[in-house]
Amino acid sequence: MPSHDVLIIGAGLAGQRAALAAAETGVTVAIMSKVHPVRSHSVAAAGGINAAVSVDDDWRSHAYDTVKGSDFLGDQDAIEVMCSEAPKEVMHLEHIGVTFHRNETGHLDLRAFGGASVKRTAYVADITGQAILHVLYEQLMKHHETVDRYEEWFTTSLILDAEGTCTGCVARHIRTGRMEVFTAKNVILASGGAGQVWKPTTNALICTADGIAQAYRVGVPLMDMEMIQYHPTTLVENGFLITEGARGEGAHLLNKDGERFMEKYAPNKMELASRDVVSRAEQTEINEGRGVGLNGEGIYLDITVVPKKRTLEALREIVNIGKDFAGVDITREPILIRPGQHYIMGGVKTDIDGATPVKGLYAAGEVACVSVHGGNRLGANSLLDTLIFGRRSGEHAAERSKHMAMPVNDDAILKRDEAMISEIINRPKTGRRISEIKDELGTIMNQKLAVYRDEAGMLEAQEVVKRLKEESRSAYIDDRGTVFNQDVLGAIELGYMLDAAECCVLAALERKESRGAQFRTDYPERNDEEWQKHINTTITADDEPAITYSPVTITQWQPEERKY
Ligand SMILES: Cc1cc2nc3c(=O)[nH]c(=O)nc-3n(C[C@H](O)[C@H](O)[C@H](O)COP(=O)(O)OP(=O)(O)OC[C@H]3O[C@@H](n4cnc5c(N)ncnc54)[C@H](O)[C@@H]3O)c2cc1C
Repeated sequence: MPSHDVLIIGAGLAGQRAALAAAETGVTVAIMSKVHPVRSHSVAAAGGINAAVSVDDDWRSHAYDTVKGSDFLGDQDAIEVMCSEAPKEVMHLEHIGVTFHRNETGHLDLRAFGGASVKRTAYVADITGQAILHVLYEQLMKHHETVDRYEEWFTTSLILDAEGTCTGCVARHIRTGRMEVFTAKNVILASGGAGQVWKPTTNALICTADGIAQAYRVGVPLMDMEMIQYHPTTLVENGFLITEGARGEGAHLLNKDGERFMEKYAPNKMELASRDVVSRAEQTEINEGRGVGLNGEGIYLDITVVPKKRTLEALREIVNIGKDFAGVDITREPILIRPGQHYIMGGVKTDIDGATPVKGLYAAGEVACVSVHGGNRLGANSLLDTLIFGRRSGEHAAERSKHMAMPVNDDAILKRDEAMISEIINRPKTGRRISEIKDELGTIMNQKLAVYRDEAGMLEAQEVVKRLKEESRSAYIDDRGTVFNQDVLGAIELGYMLDAAECCVLAALERKESRGAQFRTDYPERNDEEWQKHINTTITADDEPAITYSPVTITQWQPEERKY
């Protein structure tokens, strides 16, 4: 039975940064991932990472922009930590080998991003996530004697002891189908977001809410689950992301009359208002008949106004995406986009060291909710969040493990999960297919829990999710083997996604106001008196979520009207 001081589930930026921080303190570390680490969704991050590194900038300005971006739902103590530690973290990345873009004077170049009062986004062309992830992976290799990598291992459940302390997990070796108990003094969940609950999404196929649901199932509260980010520029055809870096470099948004409509919605920031504001503006244009393309369901993103040389240098990846996935040369003509699901602000509730209410369990990155993003995340603040809170969780978990003995686990959860998998594999082919259920889930969530919401629509979604949960219990798969059985993993992931969807819908119904990414046409105003608080969902004995509240931490910025 493998045992480690710190076990990290997830090898994206949050997981790898946590592993590095823990390893540097000398403890033994394991890092587990259901895909090869550099294939984690972090590799797709394009536009950049925020930090107040310029002489004209100050971390307090970054923090204020983040608080305002969050529509005053973010916890200001956590935001202060993230923004004040950002410059050091970015310089650290630079020192360990991330080739950030530099300007003519040799300093880090910074690009404009949405909701930011100055240029503060450091970048590597439009492959920033890839550049950072590969450097972290290289750095981890230095610690090969104390860091064990479990690549292509799929965690099925967390293990808690009789006192409710987390003592490890059960995982399946994808290549062989072998199940194993992993024991650890501390576990850090870094298993990413839940984008696949929606269809389409900018997120990779592996972003299926695994960690969110695993924590929820052992009683950890999920916070801010109603806050789902729709990114303003995703391809109409398939939901692929066109980075905010495009607008950062100066691209315009145009409606069917060729009008830069953002003048009406955010006269000061225009295309670089926060994402919730821009997505709503686009959706309003589309709903009111000023959209473009087939059925008027899109908006034009005009990148031709950016000098071609600059586009080819700084946005080279979306030049390829435009050509390959929309048949458009973005240096010559506008490209059709619309708002699309991109990020989940909510997740596993943690404190500023990544600790969850369950002892021995930490969470960092998109799986977690610290909450630094509140109602709406600013572009380029997520990479920062993964690194700052990944590092802090790694350090904190390592320190905690120095003062305790290795726990002992039995194989009760292993046996339960083996039985669960064998039940899935042996189902008769009478129910629905997993893929059909996933499709229906994504479609309803994208219709009813999108940019605009109302009670009737969300109640409908709630009913559908309930039915799908029932249907998923008899849904069948084709592959009955043990080697790379992705079918069975798909069935388990569907269960995770349905749990996350259920919490998201319930929290969104509960919040009877409009704030950040949640805009309710039946409650169009923000209501600080009643709703300046976090909504938490916790599992009950009936396997359904129940609501509790927790206060928003305010340190220095009182809520005010939000204008861009
Ligand atoms: C297309 C795109 C572009 C983006 N661009 C930017 C940007 O420019 N700037 C920015 O700040 N943010 C950006 N974001 C958001 C940001 O990239 C993500 O929020 C962040 O990278 C998430 O990192 P993470 O480490 O939390 O999770 P991920 O990188 O998603 O990693 C999750 C890890 O968990 C593992 N895992 C999951 N489930 C299991 C399981 N059951 N068992 C074992 N392992 C498991 C996976 O294998 C993976 O290793 C972008 C997101 C997308 C989708």
